[in-house]
Amino acid sequence: MRYDVVIAGCGVIGAMTARELSRYDLKVCVLEKENDVSMGSSRANSGIIHGGYDPVPGTLKAEMNVKGVPLLYEAARELNVPHRQNGSMVCAFGAEEESAIKALYERGMKNGVKGLRLLKGAQARELEPSLSDKLTAALLVPNGGIISPYELTVAAIGNAMDNGVELKRNFEICRVIQEGDGFAVQSTDQEVVRGRIFVNAAGAFTDHIAKMLHDCDFTIIPRGGEYMILDKEVGNTVSRTIFQVPTKEGKGILVCPTAHGNLMTGPTAAEVPTTESRETTREGLDTVARLAKKSVPSVDFSKVITSFAGVRSSVAGGDFIIRLSKKVPGLIHLAAIDSPGLTSCVAIARRAVELAEQAGLKLTLKEGWDGTRPDPEAFRKMTDEEKDHFIKEHPDYGHIVCRCEGVSEGEIRAAVRTNPGALDVDGVKRRTRSGMGRCQGGFCGPYVMRLISEETGTPLEEITKCGGASRMICGGRIGEGAVK
Ligand SMILES: Cc1cc2nc3c(=O)[nH]c(=O)nc-3n(C[C@H](O)[C@H](O)[C@H](O)COP(=O)(O)OP(=O)(O)OC[C@H]3O[C@@H](n4cnc5c(N)ncnc54)[C@H](O)[C@@H]3O)c2cc1C
Repeated sequence: MRYDVVIAGCGVIGAMTARELSRYDLKVCVLEKENDVSMGSSRANSGIIHGGYDPVPGTLKAEMNVKGVPLLYEAARELNVPHRQNGSMVCAFGAEEESAIKALYERGMKNGVKGLRLLKGAQARELEPSLSDKLTAALLVPNGGIISPYELTVAAIGNAMDNGVELKRNFEICRVIQEGDGFAVQSTDQEVVRGRIFVNAAGAFTDHIAKMLHDCDFTIIPRGGEYMILDKEVGNTVSRTIFQVPTKEGKGILVCPTAHGNLMTGPTAAEVPTTESRETTREGLDTVARLAKKSVPSVDFSKVITSFAGVRSSVAGGDFIIRLSKKVPGLIHLAAIDSPGLTSCVAIARRAVELAEQAGLKLTLKEGWDGTRPDPEAFRKMTDEEKDHFIKEHPDYGHIVCRCEGVSEGEIRAAVRTNPGALDVDGVKRRTRSGMGRCQGGFCGPYVMRLISEETGTPLEEITKCGGASRMICGGRIGEGAVK
């Protein structure tokens, strides 16, 4: 079988491109090296829908960011992804930073961002009482928002699959060659997938993939970002996303609520040794705490429940690379998609479809395409009476597995059954929040393993935390010859 389009990588860019392509009568296949989707930058980032005031006018980043904001809100509604247009503020401390936020205001106006306002310190504190009294001015960005990035990726590829797209996981591309008027893409397990158009959306590995086709004029520079997540108890410390003045390295340390009601602080911005560097450091987390307190002194770091780090895929020039290859017909690069790539994902995906058409792909709208996805949180949103009624028909929704986040057995089973089904414990966590609360999975972890095992038929001993060698049970089970 030869696909019309083969996409390398199932981060938010590959997933959203697949969803856009699924509107048309095409055979599309997405290849992902991990056991789940959204395992690169799209898993660990700030989850901010950026207003569009930051990118330099005339760049692809500015264009995709500004076009991307309304498209992302629309997609999030259609796909039932947790998000909120909570607005954001960029804080200035003193005259120098006040000029910097004025420059951002002017940049935003040039980029076509609506509703930007410059506020005095006191006006900003009226809107956000937790802001430092040392703050002298702020830029208000009403169109900014927050979104759950991995749930967006899961929903986008899930919806694409519901509309006919194929996803192959654990397919690590190690070789791509031109074959006739298309491509042959080979995995480390020697499986070969063929396609007419090849989309390089492999995040931090886009330069490796480009090299396989001898068409690489960019090098990905991995830049890490460390974060802390605080308990929901302090989730309303601020209502908007509170930024500091951006620097060359990034958008500064932010303090914001998450789409699920926790408080988040971070990220740092430092070059890291490899694109796989996911460790947090004492130094990095101390920097996050110190700088977060500069804008919001009351952030209570005794309420931290976890920390994490993500890796940005940047390039020296700084702009996104979204283009057809000049050397290799039918090859599309979607590379160097660092921030604001999440915000821009639908705009980038639509541009990718245009590029595929330019490369000769015939686009015929598919009859019966459905861009909506059932709400995975529908049960939680029911009234008590509705829940009672629902549980009578679906008793597994009456059994709470994750006590911290109140996740039921029915929701976990649904996460394994619904495209793209969770295959490991972290996959269930990202889809249902089971294990994301205070105890971080200490209580529900084993139960989740059993449910995955029952649903997928995979023996319990082979259930992993996050694919590969991350098995949760070593040496067998007690009573079955296990090492005790
Ligand atoms: C710290 C940080 C903060 C950020 N904050 C924001 C923000 O607030 N707002 C915003 O708009 N953007 C933000 N971004 C940027 C945003 O996260 C990225 O633009 C976006 O996630 C990029 O998605 P992607 O699909 O290109 O890459 P990825 O998510 O990295 O996906 C690439 C996929 O390709 C797979 N892959 C790689 N190699 C192979 C191979 N050989 N074979 C098969 N599959 C392969 C990977 O496993 C991965 O799943 C942030 C990024 C970081 C790191």
